[in-house]
Amino acid sequence: MATFDAIVLGGGTMGTAAAWALAKRGATTLVLEQFAHVHRLGAHGGRTRVIRHAYAESPEYVPIVQRADDLWLELEREAGNRVLHRTGGVELSAPGYGHARAARRSAELHGLPHEWISPAEVNRRWPAMSVPEDWDALYSPQVGFLETEASLRALATVARRRGATIHEGEPVRGWQADSSGVTVATNAATYRADSLIVTAGAWTGGLLGELGLPLTLLRKVLWWLRVDDPAPFSVGRFPVFIADSAAGEIYGFPIHDHPGLKIADHRGGSPTTVETIDRTVRDDEERGVVAGAQQLFRGVTDRVLESLVCHYTMTPDADFVVDRHPTRPNVTIGAGFSGHGFKFATAIGEMLADLALDASVEPVPRLALARLAALSSPQVTDTGVPIARGSGLRALR
Ligand SMILES: Cc1cc2nc3c(=O)[nH]c(=O)nc-3n(C[C@H](O)[C@H](O)[C@H](O)COP(=O)(O)OP(=O)(O)OC[C@H]3O[C@@H](n4cnc5c(N)ncnc54)[C@H](O)[C@@H]3O)c2cc1C
Repeated sequence: MATFDAIVLGGGTMGTAAAWALAKRGATTLVLEQFAHVHRLGAHGGRTRVIRHAYAESPEYVPIVQRADDLWLELEREAGNRVLHRTGGVELSAPGYGHARAARRSAELHGLPHEWISPAEVNRRWPAMSVPEDWDALYSPQVGFLETEASLRALATVARRRGATIHEGEPVRGWQADSSGVTVATNAATYRADSLIVTAGAWTGGLLGELGLPLTLLRKVLWWLRVDDPAPFSVGRFPVFIADSAAGEIYGFPIHDHPGLKIADHRGGSPTTVETIDRTVRDDEERGVVAGAQQLFRGVTDRVLESLVCHYTMTPDADFVVDRHPTRPNVTIGAGFSGHGFKFATAIGEMLADLALDASVEPVPRLALARLAALSSPQVTDTGVPIARGSGLRALR
């Protein structure tokens, strides 16, 4: 039986980042991914992800994203290719909405570079914008976007170079853990390791059914909209943006390497399951997002060039789970990234590797499993459907 220091179950965003961190620490590592490495069925589809530092959700995330940012740059150096584009970012709030002010609070607490600017100044700097005069606006020069595919490929490249093995198209069927290590079974083989890291995204509930993790899945859609003139929306002339208003928490990216203004709504989304998610986009689904964009930007049309269905795996408080299994300390869990995990991936990979390899390391309290016991129902939706548990998995025990 092949043996490793660590097995990573799920070679998506967090699993590939964990593989790099494990390999850097000299651990022999096997990653098992059910699909091809980098695919459109997980949480990393859609080409790009925002990286922002003045964290509106909580200032507690700022040191984590700062560490992640350092590691993205280290990854670029080690892999020899670019994954992060620093475009600057504008976070906007309509009267009565709090995102921009919450982001400013984080910036102030952590001394991050930022400017609190008037809508007139926003519209002057970025001519494609027409933000109403009574909105709040925060500009942060460090904000940018990560290319998802380039990021995951770079992580895999550097992990492999340091000795990690990544098996694609090999779904894990079951696992067991005892005091002597873990056993992981696929249709192809059975493997042994000292530790297991579970980073299975939307499939986590099924693999850790006995824990009854309060994870819910939300269906989300991304759109690429045609604009009359792409020039003022291009990288260098247009920032990453988030706009918090009655239309939603709409965010988007400058046009880069692909036609259309990429745009989506961080708020809302219908509860679903990984088995039943509807991957077809209805013709009228983009209406709210288009209206929100047309209120803020000049020359955005309602012509959809492309769309993609993706999903968020939500925890009740929208904070992540990065912790050891409560009864099997040689199993570490990275799950529930609640639609905002990508930017942190390099730092999360490091946390997962440290938890797996060093028994003295404690989880970050905000991301610890214990906090979930105190929460009973999801915050994001009161109709959340728990992810199906035990679906098709044969437990080995
Ligand atoms: C539309 C959308 C927009 C987003 N925007 C942002 C953003 O702008 N900024 C940001 O920071 N974050 C963003 N996020 C969130 C971020 O992309 C996710 O938090 C992150 O990708 C989650 O990573 P993951 O590793 O948990 O999941 P995934 O990347 O999906 O990886 C899980 C992997 O586990 C594999 N797996 C599952 N079960 C098994 C099994 N039994 N055997 C083997 N392999 C298995 C899956 O195939 C998959 O590859 C967004 C997410 C979505 C959906």
